[in-house]
Amino acid sequence: MTEQGVAATDNSGAGNSAASRDKAYFLHPYTNLHAHETQGPLIIERGEGVRVFDDSGKEYIEGLASLWCVSLGWGEERLVEAATRQMRKLPTYHVFGHKSHEPGIDLAERLIKLAPVPMSKVFFANSGSEANDTAVKLVWYYNNALGRPEKKKILSRVKAYHGVTVATASLTGLVNNHRDFDLPIARIQHTDCPHHYRFAEPGESEEDFATRLAESLEALILAEGPDTIAAMFAEPVMGAGGVIVPPATYFAKIQPILKKYDILLVADEVICGFGRTGNFWGSKTMGMEPDILTCAKQLSSGYLPISAVMVSDAVYRACVEESKKIGTFGHGYTYSAHPVAAAVAIETLKIYEERDLVGHVRAVAPLFQRRLKALADHPLVGEARGVGLIGALELVADKETKTPFDPVGRAGAVVNGLSQENGLIIRAMGDSVAVCPPLVIGEEDINLMFDRLTTALDAAIPVLR
Ligand code: PLP
Repeated sequence: MTEQGVAATDNSGAGNSAASRDKAYFLHPYTNLHAHETQGPLIIERGEGVRVFDDSGKEYIEGLASLWCVSLGWGEERLVEAATRQMRKLPTYHVFGHKSHEPGIDLAERLIKLAPVPMSKVFFANSGSEANDTAVKLVWYYNNALGRPEKKKILSRVKAYHGVTVATASLTGLVNNHRDFDLPIARIQHTDCPHHYRFAEPGESEEDFATRLAESLEALILAEGPDTIAAMFAEPVMGAGGVIVPPATYFAKIQPILKKYDILLVADEVICGFGRTGNFWGSKTMGMEPDILTCAKQLSSGYLPISAVMVSDAVYRACVEESKKIGTFGHGYTYSAHPVAAAVAIETLKIYEERDLVGHVRAVAPLFQRRLKALADHPLVGEARGVGLIGALELVADKETKTPFDPVGRAGAVVNGLSQENGLIIRAMGDSVAVCPPLVIGEEDINLMFDRLTTALDAAIPVLR
């Protein structure tokens, strides 16, 4: 259609500005679609270090690293060059049917060598959701290979976030990802959320709370039938559910139960992987020994979409046996191990090593956590929680009774909006607001980030009270 034709038939209300064209044409993910029709977008034009700038030139500290992923910040020329070099050499090629290429091979080798526990092989996908969806299918395939067609149920946790495909949104334990999407699908069970502040009994220690959750998990497994449960998915630190750090001894108590009933552990390292919690893997920080590990986001510093699924030798061997029996392993994406994304991921991993990014996180995390936890004294904050360079504040109407604001979500939205006005991008998840800046952030910007957050919290008091 000609441009004239569009104009003649267009009744969308589109004007010439980017904001009005956005409202006219763009269906946004994770956005209140009704509010967007009046409110419109915040248009981000460019980035530099830990900062982004909108189309009016206003500067923001990106306190969530653009959805928990831009570890190296904006403007990392080495990633641009790695992508450009690969674009010129082999801009795209698939890896189906025995085809391969050097960037895919190199990245797989690097990941296996970096794995927190011995792993055998890497499968590549394009997003965290696809990686976890692949893990679900591998778990089912594995149990069919072992002749256990009944062992297929998958456990996840209330407030978990594992993605938005049909299967992974079902694993996600958040109401908004199920409601009106006709989810969850069958064979998914949610067990307790390991949030001590919200769900511990009065006076219950972290250790006792962890024991109770482990007992509750075992009771669920026994009620469902251990022979029907195939795997449990868990983020080392729950991210989008509100940055929930599990209580002390949690995984130490959960894992023997999974082992006892031959249930695989899938570690979802989509946020925690690559240094976020102060170790290269969140699994190390939390003492997890997964059979399958998924990662994405910081794998490429978010510069290009790529994700990975690492599997243990036992899982891999069973899949090989099944393939021997039935032929081709019938799973893969056109862009699995996309060579340009893989080249950028390889360069990202090289930079992590050369610049000792984990060492940097360990050096600045104490200041980050000190500033975060000092906000527990703020009149609106019920709990300040976090580890490494990730944290959240839970906003409450009454600190003594932990009573949430009514309606839930308004306080989070208010603090989110005021932070943005004050030059800080964070993320509200209900009434918890998360901070998760680029891993390269320095002490000066950590202080500035928390100064801006404090200003926003102070400004929220008269609005919310
Ligand atoms: N798993 C975790 C822990 C995540 O935080 C996310 C996204 O935030 C996902 C999976 C899904 O990743 P994606 O949005 O790339 O599909």
